[in-house]
Amino acid sequence: MSFASLGLIDPLLKNAQRLNYQTPTPIQVKAIPAVLDGRDVMASAQTGTGKTAGFALPLLQRLVQQGPRVSSNRARVLVLVPTRELAEQVLQSFVDYGEGLDLRMTAAYGGVSINPQMMKLRKGVDVLVATPGRLLDLNRQNAVQFDQIETLVLDEADRMLDLGFARELDAVFEALPAARQTLLFSATFTDEIRAMAASILRSPVDISVSPPNVTASKIRQWVVTVDKRNKPGLFMHLVAEKKWTHALVFVKTRDGADYLSAMLDEAGYAVDTIHGDKPQPARLRALERFKTGEVHMLVATDVAARGLDIDALPLVINVDLPIKPQDYVHRIGRTGRAGSSGVAVSLVCADEAPQLAAIEALIGQTLRREEVPGFEAEHRVPQTSATGQIIKKPKKPKKPKKPKKHKALQAPEAVQGIGKKQQPQGGKPATGGEGTSLSGPNPFSVTRPRSKPVGKPPAGSRKPADKPVGGRSKRPR
Ligand code: AMP
Repeated sequence: MSFASLGLIDPLLKNAQRLNYQTPTPIQVKAIPAVLDGRDVMASAQTGTGKTAGFALPLLQRLVQQGPRVSSNRARVLVLVPTRELAEQVLQSFVDYGEGLDLRMTAAYGGVSINPQMMKLRKGVDVLVATPGRLLDLNRQNAVQFDQIETLVLDEADRMLDLGFARELDAVFEALPAARQTLLFSATFTDEIRAMAASILRSPVDISVSPPNVTASKIRQWVVTVDKRNKPGLFMHLVAEKKWTHALVFVKTRDGADYLSAMLDEAGYAVDTIHGDKPQPARLRALERFKTGEVHMLVATDVAARGLDIDALPLVINVDLPIKPQDYVHRIGRTGRAGSSGVAVSLVCADEAPQLAAIEALIGQTLRREEVPGFEAEHRVPQTSATGQIIKKPKKPKKPKKPKKHKALQAPEAVQGIGKKQQPQGGKPATGGEGTSLSGPNPFSVTRPRSKPVGKPPAGSRKPADKPVGGRSKRPR
């Protein structure tokens, strides 16, 4: 099967060739002819399957071959995406695939000034990639009207609902011309998505290139069980021991992201963070630095989980499991892309057993477990099964005979020791153990241990675990 046999025109074939796309991926084989035919499409596709080209290539062709030129403050193809990062990325794909075609394209999303977006829309655009909230703002201000929309694409529809865009989406559906083509892409198909599909699609071509809700088979996945408070220590230990130099690291909270990033930084790794509280330009810059290899580690919260296209990423580390099992699929979908292999490691504590069980039920397999000597969990992670059951209640941990001095409890100094021994190539040298700037609280130990604390704390040191013990100095970003 070749791109030419799918009916694509020369400039698009040349662009695919320039990008070194030799053969179409399975979703492209199915989606491209259907979209060229003007059909509605409902596609269940994992991340990394090539779905963006699956809709962008045929839509670009339709834009150059048919329809009137776009009028001012109008768009002809509207692509809705859940996040700003994805908006930039999808726009870039359209620009790459459509090089040499005389088409105008832009992206619009919140968190940045609306005025430049209004200016770009003034002459009208052929392709508008937008997040739902900002799109409605622009529409209310008459910067964009919908009467010339020929095609609506919903990319990562499940994520849009997860992020609470249901009302905005309904408002957009209401405002669009009824006679249009609609393409719906979603990695997971919940009842909510099916209901939405039923209400907006007309006799869609149903495309599923792999069983829904299943993680890419080329990804090697396993779990390391550990107590929550020891996660940062174990993380740094694994990074150093396994010589992991390039990874996307997921954590639950912004504080967690900053904490791990500071640890990596102190150990000499080139690192950046990406989370929802960071201003948009800083988030895009962090992503760009990671993509270009300027930084080797990117610590992210779920805001970065979906759709980000990072070439040849070998490793995803979940320092925290996501709340929603679908997000696990999206997170680890950052690796093993377009047929390459990848590794996904998750550090799991006892509290996360329900999340682990839900993930295993979703992907239909029990994840292999490991323990790392020196980091064995005192609070055992209950056994789970691929049916989503938690098999046993955790045994009460035995009271240790003597206080156990745990490497990870000494973080960050212990971590620096590890970092110094195992310098990543190209990283800057670790700073000395003394005078470290990493003296803030460990955000992974905000819940009190269930067993009694071992050993008697020295007088005057009985601070709650979640109270700062002297502020961490601010690092330049
Ligand atoms: P997507 O699923 O659209 O995010 O695409 C995932 C990755 O696959 C991106 O890096 C694309 O550039 C790449 N890709 C898409 N289509 C092809 C193809 N036919 N051959 C090789 N790589 C592709």
